Amino acid sequence: MKSGFIDLPDDIEEDALAPVRRSSVLIVDDQAAVLQTLYQLFKDTYEVFVATSGAQALSRAKVNPPDLVLLDMVMPGMTGMEVCRQLKEDPETQNIPVIFLTGNCSVDDEARALDAGAADFISKPFNPRIVSVRVNTQLRLKAKSDLLRRIARTDALTGLGNRRHFNSTLFKEWRRCARNSLPISLVFIDVDFFKRFNDIYGHPMGDYCLSSVASAMKSRMWRPADLLARFGGEEFVCLLPETPLKGAIHKAQELEAAVRDLAISHEGSSVAPVVTISLGVAAALPAQGDDPETLIDAADRMLYESKAGGRGQVRSVEITSA
Ligand SMILES: [Mg+2]
Repeated sequence: MKSGFIDLPDDIEEDALAPVRRSSVLIVDDQAAVLQTLYQLFKDTYEVFVATSGAQALSRAKVNPPDLVLLDMVMPGMTGMEVCRQLKEDPETQNIPVIFLTGNCSVDDEARALDAGAADFISKPFNPRIVSVRVNTQLRLKAKSDLLRRIARTDALTGLGNRRHFNSTLFKEWRRCARNSLPISLVFIDVDFFKRFNDIYGHPMGDYCLSSVASAMKSRMWRPADLLARFGGEEFVCLLPETPLKGAIHKAQELEAAVRDLAISHEGSSVAPVVTISLGVAAALPAQGDDPETLIDAADRMLYESKAGGRGQVRSVEITSA
């Protein structure tokens, strides 16, 4: 039976002292000799990137977020402290552990660095073995908290995003589209006569049905910002940022066909001999200050109309801001 249970990365439960493989480390120092030493130390274990200034470090971290940053405290131009502060301010990089490398610095500096969100502190000249162990410890903690974050936003049955993840993504994307005057669309999806399906075939088949429907729909999603999530029970949502009504209707029809093509028998359906879905589409051009709840309400209303109109179909509406 197919299901979307989350694969645990191998190294999570293995030998606690083994290095976290495939991790990437960004080393930032203005001294070539330090970069060289650390690069040699880590190159066989991790994917290593280097930067020679704070500005370069920030742009590298932004483009390709590493799993850990080893950061020189004293550099010309932007200081390590400032780099750390900016990393911790950006939601995209705030979970990356930062280990400071420093020459002789005061207790006050050390306290400020920890205050700025540093995970650890290593004094120069450093012992390579100590650096290795401390880096690996932070990478292990990072891998575990990444996994917890992933579990917290994933629906265990289908492997899709869960409702919590959908809510936070909707809020974020709604504001992003409002800021950039872009349209945003939402599709509400409900499996037709699902309760009857469960009654006829039993709950294990019901779970199988839901995870099959989820993966059939998921296979039609390929733009990175689009989100398919399980809203609850037999309800799913598909969030399509930067998508006007026409594109959203097209996507909804594609999802409808994908589920019908699964051809999962459903003797209790009056729509078709197979499992089908009903879909409600709403599109908006959000303005700053508009509430994304209006989009949810509209899509939900269209889903209701789709069901009232015979199920196994798409109904849609474009909402305009007041
Ligand atoms: Mg320096």
